Amino acid sequence: MDELAEITQHLLRSSPDALIVIDERGRIRFANDTVTELLGYRPGTLLGRPVEVLVPERLRGRHEQHIAGYMREPRNREMGVTIAGLVALRADGSEFPAGIRLAPFRIADRLFVAAAIRDNTERSRINDALIAARQEADRANRAKSRFLATASHDLRQPLQTVYMLNAAMGKLTDEPELTALLRRQGQAIESTTRLLNSLLDISRLESGAIEPRRIELPLPQVFEELRGEFESSARTRGLQLQFEPLPVAVFTDRTLFYQLLQNLVGNAIKYTDAGSIRVAARIATGGVLELSISDTGIGIPDDKLERIFDEYYQVDTHGAQRLGVGLGLAIVKEVSQLLGFEVRISSQLHHGTQVLIRVPSQSFSEMRRPAAPAADTPTANGERRRQGRIFLVEDNEGVRVATELFLKLEGFETLSAASLTQAQSLLTSIRPHDIVVTDYHLDAHTGLDVLADARRHAGIDVPGIILTGDLPSVLRSTAAAVPNARFLAKPVDTKELLAAIDELSAAG
Ligand code: ADP
Repeated sequence: MDELAEITQHLLRSSPDALIVIDERGRIRFANDTVTELLGYRPGTLLGRPVEVLVPERLRGRHEQHIAGYMREPRNREMGVTIAGLVALRADGSEFPAGIRLAPFRIADRLFVAAAIRDNTERSRINDALIAARQEADRANRAKSRFLATASHDLRQPLQTVYMLNAAMGKLTDEPELTALLRRQGQAIESTTRLLNSLLDISRLESGAIEPRRIELPLPQVFEELRGEFESSARTRGLQLQFEPLPVAVFTDRTLFYQLLQNLVGNAIKYTDAGSIRVAARIATGGVLELSISDTGIGIPDDKLERIFDEYYQVDTHGAQRLGVGLGLAIVKEVSQLLGFEVRISSQLHHGTQVLIRVPSQSFSEMRRPAAPAADTPTANGERRRQGRIFLVEDNEGVRVATELFLKLEGFETLSAASLTQAQSLLTSIRPHDIVVTDYHLDAHTGLDVLADARRHAGIDVPGIILTGDLPSVLRSTAAAVPNARFLAKPVDTKELLAAIDELSAAG
């Protein structure tokens, strides 16, 4: 035997994989020495036997079909890509997870297949461990989201109390120093609320609990609402705020779409010290609606651009002056994925940032009729002294006392109760122009029961405001069905509460 042939034989015999060769009838024609170590057969005893001896009995039928299929179309490939959990049978009847590589070859027109068999026990153990670790991480992540959602939900009650007390104290004093202190306290409460809302948003988004509900939203109206919301903060910062809509309606989820835009416009204002913010729409190539939010602000360094969508990530180049916790863009990322929009960001340090939201063509259409002008949107008048009577039903004493105090100082006459049962006797005296303000979650009832009872006593649909610690997604499902009512999420801003009262009184 020449040297090369000897090397080849040696390699074949002692290869780390068990090697066998089968003919076109599936009979074993060759087996190397490793077969003993791996499968427990002496090589010679396998020759001439069907390859199925190496396959556990329960899998033999399937295996024969695979061999027949393979012989029709033989090629180099890894087995087990199509058969999950490939196992081999040892001489002693035990099994092990196997990796098998196949290589066909021909000798004088006869087809043979060489198979290299490996013990994959370790690999599949690692794989199982990886899957388990992944499941554990997902579980921990869901638990974290649930914890955050619960914790922030429970924080809303005391925060609502503090909010109302702050507003009430503001009404009780004209003393400039005290007023200034109360204003600062109010700002701190507002930023706590913002943080709480972001935490709740991101945890709910991550827990997968939010299902978008798509409706048609006229873009000019959306832009007008954003203008209403951000105009004064832009003005305070000496910035120009421009909106350039298109007459299109976006088919999307109202709350989520606003959340997306609010975060981006909010950031543009927050991170711009001079110049302007432009919110524009255009139809880009491919029929995509492109919404852009551009600012002339501080910009983002190139090497940070990739990370700014991560939770809690903030670029450290700007002082602690700018309120934020680094969740805004994480929310933007989650929401846009949920809505099927693509978000792109580009920025030039010290010159400005541009965020593009690309809305696919199936998610928008030309508007059928022009949007109502923005001037129609009712606004709250903070200074006017109000009148009227309010029925307040709230089971949390702190919130009830503070809200009642605030409403009284605003000029309203108030009647309050801690439950539907307590409210019963009061409700008999309800008059058509009264307004019901009620918590949604009451011990054995809901605010909707309170409102229904009030309406039964009054004989008309008395206006109702229902306050809840639940999120907009929960509210939306119930809100639509109740006429002459507003649903507000706790902690409710005093301006928001007054605006809702004004709006319902005007309608009544
Ligand atoms: P934050 O609560 O800090 O605003 P975000 O997740 O909204 O968190 O943004 C993450 C970081 O990205 C911000 O801290 C800021 O450094 C940077 N950033 C976001 N938007 C802008 C922008 N328009 N201009 C400059 N920097 C921005």
